[in-house]
Amino acid sequence: MIKTVKYTRDILPEEFTNDLSAQSHRFQHVEAVAREAFRRYGYREIRTPIFEHTELFARGVGQETDIVSKEMYSWTDVNNDRLTLRPENTAPVIRSYIEHKMWASSDLVKLFYIGPMFRRERGQKGRFRQFYQIGVEVLGKSDNPAIEAEVIEMIYWILDELKISDTELLVNSVGCPACRPQFNETLRRELAPLLRELCADCNRRYETNILRVLDCKQDAERTAQLTPILDLLCRECNLHFLQFRSYLDHKGIPYRVEPRLVRGLDYYTRTAFEVTSRTLGAQSALLGGGRYDGLSETLGGPPTKGFGFALGLDRFVMSLPHDLADPSRPELYIAYLGERAFAYAMTLISKLRRQGIACVMDFEQRSLRSAMKLADKLKVAKVLIVGDNELDQGQLILRDMRSGEQQLLTEDELLRFFHGQK
Ligand SMILES: [Zn+2]
Ligand SMILES: [Zn+2]
Repeated sequence: MIKTVKYTRDILPEEFTNDLSAQSHRFQHVEAVAREAFRRYGYREIRTPIFEHTELFARGVGQETDIVSKEMYSWTDVNNDRLTLRPENTAPVIRSYIEHKMWASSDLVKLFYIGPMFRRERGQKGRFRQFYQIGVEVLGKSDNPAIEAEVIEMIYWILDELKISDTELLVNSVGCPACRPQFNETLRRELAPLLRELCADCNRRYETNILRVLDCKQDAERTAQLTPILDLLCRECNLHFLQFRSYLDHKGIPYRVEPRLVRGLDYYTRTAFEVTSRTLGAQSALLGGGRYDGLSETLGGPPTKGFGFALGLDRFVMSLPHDLADPSRPELYIAYLGERAFAYAMTLISKLRRQGIACVMDFEQRSLRSAMKLADKLKVAKVLIVGDNELDQGQLILRDMRSGEQQLLTEDELLRFFHGQK
């Protein structure tokens, strides 16, 4: 038997899995709420290819990141193109922004995406090598921190709507090309005497991407006393961060300044943020994002300010309330007994579906008992029983599966009954 590749999984209709975190209607629910948020906040959908030139990620994410150095699915295609399954979607969105000259038609471009990403991660619990992200990117001429506060407000609308509570917003600034070199220098000096105590990854990062030493969980205690980056921000970065925080205050969004928050990717500047979930465990990020002014230039585009976030759909699904009903479940199952009843049921089901009722019927003759069992398994609310005898009297039997109550109705009454429910 051929099974799914290790650390990948199927997302299934609820009747085929008891694992709540793998039920497709839960994914649909998060997506629907996010789409509604994007509609309200003026975001437009972008769908980029699942694979891109490897160079896009090498340049856009950074050679030295774990993602690019260890986790990408890359291959050489027949014509010698180096290709990669996208491990994230900010670089592809910027690539598209540049390729389609979006900057020429609008000063502020607000885009969202929903789709799978691919990383060869070590199989930790709740981490998959094909995982799903929902994200937004705000691109254009303005780097007003009000944009950042608006994005975070929208995130909280999504969280509220999904009834995901017990979260915390962490914010930080990672500086800019003007002030980060000085901070890196300070970090290098302060870390040098500690290096022997730090993990192997941190020793490597010390040379390649020193900021990331701060986000090593393993060495958190050893690096706790370092000078925080916020002490060394330039005047502009400082002002930007203060304004950002004042907008959050203005919107009544609580947050905690976390000087160790640096994010995993090279391209972040200034504001970085993360929303963590206490329910998922102490250091569990539900989503994260930040500012990446300059990424467009890195990819050969015009000077562009950028801000965005991505949320892990798989983790969101794990945080949803357990009793979430599946709205795509069929409302009605039609059971029929006899040949004439079958012919009638086929016509009736078409009428019902044209009225917008989600209904199913079976194509094999079966006993009423086994039809009821099937209806029960599908978790439908109502079953319509059509028998040859009832047909002669122009009557149908509608059974409520929860209460077990039955009523006799004509076809017209049935259609009106469901019409009234809509
Ligand atoms: Zn700065
Ligand atoms: Zn470390």
